[in-house]
Amino acid sequence: MLQKAISDSSSNAEIFTGLPAENDVLDEVRALAGGLRRQNGAAPENLDFTIPIGWEERIGHLDGEPIKRLIIFLRSTGCEWVEKTGGCTMCGFYCATSRGREVSAKEYVAQFEYVMDAVDLGDYPVVSVYNDGNIFNEREMPVAAIEKICSYIDGYKNIKKVVVESRIDYSPDEHVAKMKKSLNGRQLEVAFGFESADPLVMNLCINKGFSANNFDHFHSRMRSMGVLTKPLLLVKPPFLTDAEAVRDVLSTVSYCVSRGIDHVDLEVTTVEKNTVVHELWKNNLYRPPWLWSLIDLLQQCHERFGDRAHVYVSPWTYSVESLDWARNCGSCDAEFVKAIERYNLNFDTSEFAGLDCSCRDDEWKEAAVREDPRSIPERIREQLAYVRQARLSTM
Ligand code: SF4
Ligand SMILES: [Zn+2]
Repeated sequence: MLQKAISDSSSNAEIFTGLPAENDVLDEVRALAGGLRRQNGAAPENLDFTIPIGWEERIGHLDGEPIKRLIIFLRSTGCEWVEKTGGCTMCGFYCATSRGREVSAKEYVAQFEYVMDAVDLGDYPVVSVYNDGNIFNEREMPVAAIEKICSYIDGYKNIKKVVVESRIDYSPDEHVAKMKKSLNGRQLEVAFGFESADPLVMNLCINKGFSANNFDHFHSRMRSMGVLTKPLLLVKPPFLTDAEAVRDVLSTVSYCVSRGIDHVDLEVTTVEKNTVVHELWKNNLYRPPWLWSLIDLLQQCHERFGDRAHVYVSPWTYSVESLDWARNCGSCDAEFVKAIERYNLNFDTSEFAGLDCSCRDDEWKEAAVREDPRSIPERIREQLAYVRQARLSTM
């Protein structure tokens, strides 16, 4: 399968080869993902690339303490992985970008200045700068823009840490080192979609295109430069049941803990337009995770790993609209979301103690134990055949 993975040229990561049947399934996933992207068409002509998508305040952590964190969503060129392979099966970020049109360094800098005019960055010890793709990929974001933005950040003594996102294979040492240097002693953290330590889930269910080995090399590369890494783990990728998804995250957290990583972020799958997940969802082949499953997962993480794993749940608001998200029966959802927000402050699972609703026994209990008897390649092949048939019948 990983014949089709792109190698991490900076790490000399080992490249595996998958079984021919797995390669065929990956081809099918990519064909569907690529076709769906084409349906997005070009970006709207009136988009102003000197104005960012937006910004948001969230909880962050610095030296073990909860603090205020500012997230800035820049309007960017878009993730190159989408152009090459159709992109990851759950990710619809490309819709919010220029979809390949070059965004100049000047435009990126103007977007950052726009935020500086609107918000006092000095209020935030941690600032995250996201570009719906890979900040260290020169084709997506010029290094000159990163350096200028860092020089602005350097003007705020209160900012102690900067967080960016980039795929591990689009993060050459040279660019990372330049950013680290421009931050003038501040912490730099690179968040990246690790998603799952299971190669079949990572590559066939998600189309991530790398292996846990690539991650190991990336982690040690970053560490040697004094850069922090933050793996983002996907909760309920397509083609997994809730029960399987909980197990998958638990083993991925265990993998991270074994590598000495004690902070991970959970990204909870949402349904975003023109993605493989969206197509499955339209055909009743995908449901975002139950909030009960998420709580169950956090409790199990706490029992198994204690303080060795701080598991943060990213709020599921992104730069693109979601059509569906983690939920229970509807009447208890708000209470669960608030409990997760409180949990995020100190990773305290006692926040979940009072949660109760009849949907636990009426509906979730069954979902919590359901397993798909088919192998991952088998179930993907069957579900994609169903989707293809459904698409043909609506043409
Ligand atoms: S999840 Fe990340 S790597 Fe995958 S398509 Fe989206 S932006 Fe690109
Ligand atoms: Zn309920």
